Amino acid sequence: MPNTDFKYIYGPVPSWRLGSSLGIDLLSRPEKICSFDCTYCQLGRNNTKRTTRDVFVRTGDVMKEIESLPDVSIDYLTFSGRGEPTLALNLGEAIRALRRIRKEKISVITNSSLMARKDVRDDLLAADFVIAKLDAATDDVFEAINRPAEGVLFRGVVEALTDFRKEFPGRFALQIMFVTANKDTAREISDLAELIGPDEVQLNTPLRPCMEQPLPGEDMMHIKTFFNRQGLRAVDVYSAGKKTVVPLSGADTLRRRGKEI
Ligand code: SF4
Repeated sequence: MPNTDFKYIYGPVPSWRLGSSLGIDLLSRPEKICSFDCTYCQLGRNNTKRTTRDVFVRTGDVMKEIESLPDVSIDYLTFSGRGEPTLALNLGEAIRALRRIRKEKISVITNSSLMARKDVRDDLLAADFVIAKLDAATDDVFEAINRPAEGVLFRGVVEALTDFRKEFPGRFALQIMFVTANKDTAREISDLAELIGPDEVQLNTPLRPCMEQPLPGEDMMHIKTFFNRQGLRAVDVYSAGKKTVVPLSGADTLRRRGKEI
């Protein structure tokens, strides 16, 4: 019997944006480690938002788990997990270590909050695919939905996304979660997305259990028209298909993770 009781990795899971994706969690704490406290977060409330980076799990310990994987089909090795992966100080080191032992592409799903920092951008530059959050076009909506840690400013995040897009040679996507509070600002968000210039835009609404209700399909199709008009390649959670993938990690491991990759 192969080992299915992993501590730091989970899946592979079928992902509407990544195909078959093996999740890697460099945070791996029972509590959420994040600089945001989004209203739609699947991990519950965050009473201790943070912006300081730290090593939560040693790179070698994560690599040992990955080396123990049986032969399995994976499209992406994805850094996500129980919070914001760029808070892990060893993110870049882990990406480089992974590249030495695996052939699959490497993605990072980030909330964009720390991208203004050069050390964070340098870490993200080591990935093949960066999926970065942008849920708002104004300061007010950013504060209302993402509820950022003190010192994380909307304008700073937008500038950092724009700069990173110019610098990053890999595949770059903006992920946008639409809920009641931002659905009427889709046009403004699409204007901003057009200025940033991602390879694709991923339009999401919370379909997993959380404190927000998902928007219906017709609202999401309407929202998508704004992005299409800008000439952006837009994919949405309702239209994108999912691969059939059999996870290696046990049900308990998958349940612990919670967050969608
Ligand atoms: S949804 Fe993601 S970015 Fe938002 S609070 Fe949860 S873990 Fe953090």
